[in-house]
Amino acid sequence: MSLVIFGTSQTPVHTEYLHTDCPVCNSSQHAEVMVYSEYVHVYYIPFFPVGKDAFTVCSQCGFKKTTPLTRGFCSAHSLDYRKYRHPMRTFSGLLTIGGLIGLTILVYQLD
Ligand SMILES: [Zn+2]
Repeated sequence: MSLVIFGTSQTPVHTEYLHTDCPVCNSSQHAEVMVYSEYVHVYYIPFFPVGKDAFTVCSQCGFKKTTPLTRGFCSAHSLDYRKYRHPMRTFSGLLTIGGLIGLTILVYQLD
């Protein structure tokens, strides 16, 4: 029996402040938006990203809301979607496996 530990986790990408209306306190204050990259990990090594989430906190009442970061969300709040890229470390597992495959091919071609 083998035990493979895998799942998803998140890492922060960027923090932004924007002017928005709060659905709870109805104030139009600045809200803090933290963008997170969600990735699949195997044995806690990030393999590949699967999505981005925006975690919004109202500065007036502290209301918190998590929404998927989509192009529609960004255009509705005047944010540049391309600015929030997945960090390179979220591709660590794929890059390691790709490097090992490339190295193996190179070694067999040299023989
Ligand atoms: Zn609020």
